[in-house]
Amino acid sequence: MEVTEKVVILRTGKFKENDLWVKFLSSGRGVQNAFAFGGSRSRRRFGGCFEPFSQVLFKIGTNRVGTYQVLQEGSLIKAYPGIRSDIRKIGLAANCLKFVEAAVLEREGSRGVFELLTETLDVIEEAEPDDFFPLFFRAKVAFEQGYNPDFTICSQCGKPLFSSRPVVFDIEKGVVACLDCADGHRGDTISAGTVRTLAWIQDTGPSSWTSLKLPAEIRQECFSVMDRFMAYHLGLVWEGNGYRKI
Ligand SMILES: [Zn+2]
Repeated sequence: MEVTEKVVILRTGKFKENDLWVKFLSSGRGVQNAFAFGGSRSRRRFGGCFEPFSQVLFKIGTNRVGTYQVLQEGSLIKAYPGIRSDIRKIGLAANCLKFVEAAVLEREGSRGVFELLTETLDVIEEAEPDDFFPLFFRAKVAFEQGYNPDFTICSQCGKPLFSSRPVVFDIEKGVVACLDCADGHRGDTISAGTVRTLAWIQDTGPSSWTSLKLPAEIRQECFSVMDRFMAYHLGLVWEGNGYRKI
């Protein structure tokens, strides 16, 4: 096997004097690991390719028996100097990378997440997103991974939810109901503003999120609801070799 593909570097480490292991998000194959023999020495083959956040084009092969991947050469596409020179931006970007590492498995069809991550890094590089920006990213990754509740209509009666009334969100089932239908159903009552915000994140991308000015209580509620939603859906259904959908 030999592939050439775009990746974002998540993490690297040394395992021998000149050899590195590299964890990266591949544009088409999710999170991957590979070795770069002589990687910490060879500027010609790998100049500048191993810094976290960097976007790189790698030529990747395997060892002779095909048990692990070997990086053959790389060319740096984007280095994100604006992120690297700003400790706050490093924190925002690192938060997004760690979530990708934990939540995105090896599989086909992760192109959406790759595009989302690179667009997110572009925004962190070029704009001044606030500290809530990674929450939007995490929520959008969960939506991209298929944990994608419909926040616009009541799951019971089918009426639109965009009124000023609160709604009830069943985190485990990932469904939303209006107050009229919520009697006897389990779930958290969340404000109309939070539901609208979550629906808006589903419809938009990172370049739109920096302009959003959210009242503190809606931010807080988005955080609390989505973090529990993701803990439940991305956490409990992980089974070591893949996600099981509930
Ligand atoms: Zn209803």
